[in-house]
Amino acid sequence: MKLYNSLSHEKEEFIPHTPGKVSMYTCGPTVYHFAHIGNLRSYIMEDVLEKYLRYDGYDVKRVMNITDVGHLTSDADTGEDKMLKGARREKKTVMEIAKFYTDAFFADCEKLNIKRPDVVEPATNCIAEFITMVQGLLDGGYAYLAGGNVYFDTSKLSEYYVFNNFEAEDLAVGVRDGVEEDGNKKNKTDFVLWFTKSKFDDQELKWDSPWGVGYPGWHIECSAISMKHLGEYLDIHCGGIDNAFPHHTNEIAQSEAFIGHPWCKYWFHILHLNTNSGKMSKSAGEFLTVSLLEEKGYDPMVYRFFCMQSHYRKVLVFSWDALDNAAAAYGKLVAKIAALDPAKTGENADGVAALKASFKAALDNDLNTSLAVTALYDVLKAPISDAEKLSLFADFDRVLSLNLIGAAEKLREENAAPAADGETVAKIEALIAERLEAKKAKNYARADEIRAELTAMGVTLKDTPEGTTYTIG
Ligand code: AMP
Ligand code: ZN
Repeated sequence: MKLYNSLSHEKEEFIPHTPGKVSMYTCGPTVYHFAHIGNLRSYIMEDVLEKYLRYDGYDVKRVMNITDVGHLTSDADTGEDKMLKGARREKKTVMEIAKFYTDAFFADCEKLNIKRPDVVEPATNCIAEFITMVQGLLDGGYAYLAGGNVYFDTSKLSEYYVFNNFEAEDLAVGVRDGVEEDGNKKNKTDFVLWFTKSKFDDQELKWDSPWGVGYPGWHIECSAISMKHLGEYLDIHCGGIDNAFPHHTNEIAQSEAFIGHPWCKYWFHILHLNTNSGKMSKSAGEFLTVSLLEEKGYDPMVYRFFCMQSHYRKVLVFSWDALDNAAAAYGKLVAKIAALDPAKTGENADGVAALKASFKAALDNDLNTSLAVTALYDVLKAPISDAEKLSLFADFDRVLSLNLIGAAEKLREENAAPAADGETVAKIEALIAERLEAKKAKNYARADEIRAELTAMGVTLKDTPEGTTYTIG
């Protein structure tokens, strides 16, 4: 498989550190609010990558952190802790906020068929690991104490801007206008590893450390949590493009300074979901959530399908029209799958193998999901049996997770099911019998009343010489 590596800016052949095994780390959500569908684009595309690696036969171990402390409103160590902001907004404790939004995040993931990573680790679980790493960086001369905080000294590195040719706009996200400079920093790019003295006296979560009571910086979380579960050699690190700088840049700086050798081989960055007015973000106020899509009547699978239709390294622009198109295309695809007859068997092994090969070729080429979706349509057109088609859809959906078979079965059942359940049928038949009795007793008023009642239920009666028949709907 070839994957674009943000470190080399090239598509590279994917070769994991240990043959057959893949260690994969994902920056998890900061759980101070609901995830927006932009965040979820990143998690959907990472999910496809993980599933494709498994499909390709790799033994994958995937780890995700939950940021429940230390992520400030500016990624560059200034502003307020996002968790504290969330707690204040909702008049709850930070831990209550963390629990609520962690659960909400995984509920959204479930709706979008995003698999839960093998390890999910909240930052607040790993304070001891952060302290060990910060101490190691101090001992190695890569960190210094100033104004009560511990800082990473970026001047000690031969290269700091490792992802250097990203768009300036992406790089600028972490260093927003109007953020005040931290006078303790020796170099502008230095960053906080451990906060003790800060202007956030009301920081709820604090821990003792060799440098005083305080809390960890955001970046150290991901380095330490990744190493705790995946060791010193990481194969793939994922995240949205805004995380490349400063977050991932800082992760690399401190991880490699700590272990003394290269750390992560492949950096997988997902481009943003934008709206017509720019990047979708929580700080911009209104943002779209999975629940909002559902309220508007969209199946979350439609959003996953929408994401799948475009390449992860292209900005995806969201609009309701575009989502409607995705909904229509998804509906049609499911209907075509539902129309396949599993009893129509036959064998065209070469045909099946060719379709599988083109599906794999699409994903082998830097996870080209839009071509993988095209491969689904190719299955429909191919000269293979319906049974073979169904088994290919099931196979491809191990990666795409579009619920193709489940949705098609549901549609088939809906089409085949009697329009009413047993109880309704019994009620209709009882009313018809009562109407017959009323007519026999020449109580036509009652008979008409019953007919009206049935009409209101959507039942149309037809009196025939053989008796009364009815249709529903
Ligand atoms: P956060 O919860 O803010 O830490 O972000 C969670 C993930 O969503 C990170 O991988 C971000 O890079 C990513 N992300 C943030 N905004 C967007 C966006 N508009 N489109 C795609 N991914 C995003
Ligand atoms: Zn991270």
